[in-house]
Amino acid sequence: MHEYPATLEFINIAAQKARAANARRVTRVRLVVGEQSGLAPESIQMYFEIIAEGTVCADAALEIETVKTKWRCPRCDIFYERRPLSFACPRCGEDGEPTSAGREFYVDSIEVAD
Ligand SMILES: [Zn+2]
Repeated sequence: MHEYPATLEFINIAAQKARAANARRVTRVRLVVGEQSGLAPESIQMYFEIIAEGTVCADAALEIETVKTKWRCPRCDIFYERRPLSFACPRCGEDGEPTSAGREFYVDSIEVAD
């Protein structure tokens, strides 16, 4: 349910950008959503269609790029995607630690039109 306020927030950001650019509508919004952000892309898409209705974002295409969670091995200092049921480093087998990669949620770009 975090998707509702998150969607509301980026629609507001897009609307502000459109206003600042004197544009009448937003044509495209690109989001980056990490796997560990707690936000489901399909829910964002669903809320977007509901919330954007009647706003400058109504006809905008929403593109969501998802980012995989990355783990870091303290011994090898490498980043990797963990396998199911395992936290082990693919090189040495030691358990890695989670990093901030995969927690992102931000607007990557907004396109507007007159
Ligand atoms: Zn390692």
